[in-house]
Amino acid sequence: MGKLHFQELGPVIDAHIHFAGDHAQSLELLDELDLKLLNVTVADLAGTWREREAEPYRELAQRWPHRYAWCTSFDPPATTDEDPEYTRRVIEGLEDDFRGGAIACKIWKNVGMEATDANGRHIMVDDPVLEPILSYLEDGNHTLLTHIGEPLACWQPLDHPSPHREYYRNNPQWHMYGRTDMPSHEQLMAARDRVLARHPKLRMVGAHLGSLEYDLGEVASRLDAYENFAVDISARFADLVSHGSERVRDFLLTYSDRILFGTDFVEREPHSEMPGAKREQLYERIRNDYFAQYAYFAGDEVHRGLDLPEDVLRRLFRENARSWYPGL
Ligand SMILES: [Zn+2]
Repeated sequence: MGKLHFQELGPVIDAHIHFAGDHAQSLELLDELDLKLLNVTVADLAGTWREREAEPYRELAQRWPHRYAWCTSFDPPATTDEDPEYTRRVIEGLEDDFRGGAIACKIWKNVGMEATDANGRHIMVDDPVLEPILSYLEDGNHTLLTHIGEPLACWQPLDHPSPHREYYRNNPQWHMYGRTDMPSHEQLMAARDRVLARHPKLRMVGAHLGSLEYDLGEVASRLDAYENFAVDISARFADLVSHGSERVRDFLLTYSDRILFGTDFVEREPHSEMPGAKREQLYERIRNDYFAQYAYFAGDEVHRGLDLPEDVLRRLFRENARSWYPGL
């Protein structure tokens, strides 16, 4: 195993997680690992996300600012017509959230894949109805986290080898193979790219390797084309590893200031309400997972690690999160 230990990076930042850790043991875990978490709010169409996620995440960040930060979101649009009332409501909500300590805003895959207008047309991320909101974020120097689209496996048959096919087997409502009524992966990526081009000062972090996990060359081409774009690796560790050590190492060294560590652990039930045994099991699993992922990046070749230099490890696990999410 290489030079630096996980806990010596101090603190490691997990830049994409959903962790309602409000128990004393939650804080013990974060202290032990010396971790800071960016809790990410996911805005569902039903509008329950404020109470269910935004409020608890805001509270955690206010109580323990050295361990928690939070990223807010906003209701997806329900029309492609110009809608000043919608714009006003969203921006007021965001202003309140930023005053309440939110350090970024997320837009989720339901934009592009679920939200439709009155004619049943999918509303894409580059739709004019979202323009004033994107400009508001750009002008206010707020980072936008985008989870647009899905892994390419979403549009492929279930027998196509992929780390994601079990997910689509179990969540057929998100499996788009053969669905001619849905936008393609390519259309979703193109819409996201048009936002990057149209808003060159909007700092954007593309979650999950920017939904381009199947080909690091595709990620690289966006990073080359758009200086305002970075990606997190959350929930795409298996995809990353599948590209082979040499390719991944080269990618991480070339774009060492554009890639953010994140896990996308999801446990939204308040941890204080869990049975103690469940919480302990969960934390054991999380602890092991952090160490396993870190071993891949920091470990030497004998241990099948990438043996990344210390400065690159520091950027991936901490510094990039701080520069792409000011205030973290
Ligand atoms: Zn997530």
